[in-house]
Amino acid sequence: MTDTLFAKIIRREIPADIVYEDDAVLAFRDINPQAPMHVLFVPKTPIATLNDLGEADAPTVGRLVLAAANYAKAQGVADDGYRVVMNCNRNGGQTVFHLHLHLLAGRAMHWPPG
Ligand code: AMP
Repeated sequence: MTDTLFAKIIRREIPADIVYEDDAVLAFRDINPQAPMHVLFVPKTPIATLNDLGEADAPTVGRLVLAAANYAKAQGVADDGYRVVMNCNRNGGQTVFHLHLHLLAGRAMHWPPG
């Protein structure tokens, strides 16, 4: 996997508005927010896309989802609700090829998504 913007954020080589970190996950505000709360959760392990996941990555993905859910609870948006999104490749709208989960909250989401 080639070096990505998110790998540089993880290494603190470029700035980001970091809101959460643990041994497996870093979370920071999206630079182009699509909701009042829009936070990206990225694994510190570099995985390009959902297509690249193997069985051994299951704990990493679990940590990613759990970190997002816990963050939503801690921020007081869990009861109202929120959306998590993981885009994969061109048709999914993925632009950064380091696995990430979008947490969107603070407004009612629409369905179907665009
Ligand atoms: P995706 O389209 O699913 O690959 O999501 C990539 C996201 O990264 C987009 O929502 C961008 O707005 C966001 N993004 C791009 N550059 C940065 C940055 N430097 N800091 C924070 N978010 C970024």
